[in-house]
Amino acid sequence: MTIFQRIIAREIPAEILHEDEKCVAIRDINPQAPVHVLVVPKEALVRIGEARDDHAALLGHLLLVAASVGGREAPGGFRIVINNGRDGGETVPHLHVHVLGGRPMGWPPG
Ligand code: AMP
Repeated sequence: MTIFQRIIAREIPAEILHEDEKCVAIRDINPQAPVHVLVVPKEALVRIGEARDDHAALLGHLLLVAASVGGREAPGGFRIVINNGRDGGETVPHLHVHVLGGRPMGWPPG
C-alpha cells in the first residue's frame, strides 16, 4: 500500500482540500512553494508513464481538479508538474499531480 493509499483510507492524516469519487487533493507535507497541493487518484496507477488509453478520462479529471484547486489557492498563477521515474524526481510510486503556486516559478525547472 502506498502512502497515498493510506491517506485516502484515512490511516494517515493529511489536509484534504478536495475529494470526489476519483481523487483527493491534499497539501504536500514538504511544500516547495507557498501553495503545494497534490492531486492523487484513488486508483493506484503507479506513474503517468504506465497510463493506458482507458485512463484518459481519469487523467483529464486529475488535470481539471488540479486547475480548479490551483485557481482557488494560487490566483496569481500556478504550475502543474508530474514527476515520472528516477530522473523525473518521482519518489512515491502512486501517480500524483503537483500544483505549485504562491510565488513566481522559475524556468527552466531544476
Ligand atoms: P514525487 O517526488 O513527485 O514522487 O512527489 C512525492 C511528494 O509526496 C513529495 O512532494 C512529498 O513531499 C509528498 N509526500 C510524501 N509523503 C506525504 C504525506 N504523508 N503527506 C503529504 N505529502 C507527502
